[in-house]
Amino acid sequence: MSDKFDVIVIGGGPGGYVAAIRAAQLGLKTACIDAFTGKDGKASPGGTCLNVGCIPSKTLLDSSKHFHHVQHDYAAHGITVSDAQIDVPQMIARKDGVVRKLTGGVSQLLKGNKVSFFHGTGKLKTGLEVEITPADEGDTISLHGKNIILASGSVPIEIPGVPFDGEYIVDNVGALDFDHVPDTLGVIGAGVIGLELGSVWNRLGSKVTLLEALPDFLALADKDISKQALREFKKQGLEIHLGSMVKSAGVEDGKVKVTIEDAKGEHQHTFERLLVSVGRKPYTDGLLSEDCGVKLTEKGQIDVNEQSQTSVPGVWAIGDCVRGPMLAHKASEEGVAVAELIAGKPANIHFDTVPWVVYTDPEIAWVGKTEQELQAAGIDYKTGSFPFAANGRALAGGHSSGMVKMLADAETDEILGVHIFGANASELVSECVVAMEFQGASEDLARIVHAHPTLSEAVHEAALHLDGRAIHRGN
Ligand code: FAD
Ligand code: AMP
Repeated sequence: MSDKFDVIVIGGGPGGYVAAIRAAQLGLKTACIDAFTGKDGKASPGGTCLNVGCIPSKTLLDSSKHFHHVQHDYAAHGITVSDAQIDVPQMIARKDGVVRKLTGGVSQLLKGNKVSFFHGTGKLKTGLEVEITPADEGDTISLHGKNIILASGSVPIEIPGVPFDGEYIVDNVGALDFDHVPDTLGVIGAGVIGLELGSVWNRLGSKVTLLEALPDFLALADKDISKQALREFKKQGLEIHLGSMVKSAGVEDGKVKVTIEDAKGEHQHTFERLLVSVGRKPYTDGLLSEDCGVKLTEKGQIDVNEQSQTSVPGVWAIGDCVRGPMLAHKASEEGVAVAELIAGKPANIHFDTVPWVVYTDPEIAWVGKTEQELQAAGIDYKTGSFPFAANGRALAGGHSSGMVKMLADAETDEILGVHIFGANASELVSECVVAMEFQGASEDLARIVHAHPTLSEAVHEAALHLDGRAIHRGN
């Protein structure tokens, strides 16, 4: 095999494998190198997202939702199920099967697009050379690329004094693989990952306590939404302690003792298991040779310009290892854009319309600015909202919690942000992303016919409410 490529991608997550496929579609001779090894000891392209992130977490969220519904919601429908049991190893095996199917699918897609795949660790050297240390510890391989795309992703942040041990004190990888339901689970950090994985084990019967350093809950979300969500999650049995800074943790007699500091001073909690989910940091260990010339930022991200170019001509970087939200769809879109730029096509990403989702129940999803961001920026805006409690489809399905809130420019009516707390918020937000991409006004959404009965009518009504003409609520 020739060692010369038009494009070499280091990292096979949703950033890297998508970049590689798009580059190959555009006729570029492409290689993709990924280090991840699956549970079966084989290559498992798909990165954090497919192996230990988005997909396995959503799989367990779905399984645990079924168990919760059987126990708590079916009776209202007149369905009696007695003695529901959870078989955790079966639930985990199903999750592993879903992961295997998707990572196998990525391997097939790479092959089908004639991308040369290498299972190993890639290191960027000078002169656009990449050295690969194969995962099977065979001889190193050297490749040359006209362009190199760095897509090495991220890893969990470890708090000093709270060392991961893979069994009692775990990161996302451990919390996706517990072999039983812990009686008690402490979760450090009430962010997206902490809430999602905390919800999984809470629904399965664990007493889950989230310890969050910040005084505000989900500080990135719109305040009206985060207030409702906090109330709802507490009702579901999640214990959420805000303003609780974890200082240290250790295992004693098979239990995890956690020391926190809050307004009342220092005290201890004891849990059977502890999940540390205090955010992720860019991963560049072993990726860059000292003299390769690629610069990092103070935060350890690979420094890139708006077009994802690094400080070295011909070297690009995308996804979690660069600036911007750590989201799979953002990584993939950057991958597509960079492949197209390399092929000489125009490409650009609108970071302002990247949607955010928290896959709790109800889900939280948003796009654009929050009300507090508009206030801070001094932008004159108007607001519309609609509660799911007044939406027929939501009531029929038993999903009456939450609302849609829409923010639009007071003068031009351009939509500036949409915030949804409710069932299928992750799907509903797409309509709003499209509207914002086309610089749509709330009037545009208000005039579009929405099928009845659907949850999307709540988006429609929020748009109507903005103009004081909602039909199914007071204005
Ligand atoms: P990654 O997916 O991290 O992939 C990087 C790949 O590069 C890895 O396979 C790594 O092994 C490999 N690699 C690193 N260095 C080298 C090297 N030197 N040589 C070869 N290979 C290398 N995002 C969402 O949008 N939606 C969600 O629902 C969601 N849920 C999540 C749930 C959890 C529990 C976690 C942890 C994350 C979740 N995320 C979610 C975030 C999402 O997983 C990341 O944003 C996304 O995976 C980033 O893609 P990436 O390609 O930049 O990096
Ligand atoms: P996310 O980045 O969405 O995964 O959220 C991580 C959360 O962890 C943030 O809300 C942080 O405020 C929180 N966090 C970070 N360090 C600590 C700590 N030592 N104790 C408790 N919470 C923390």
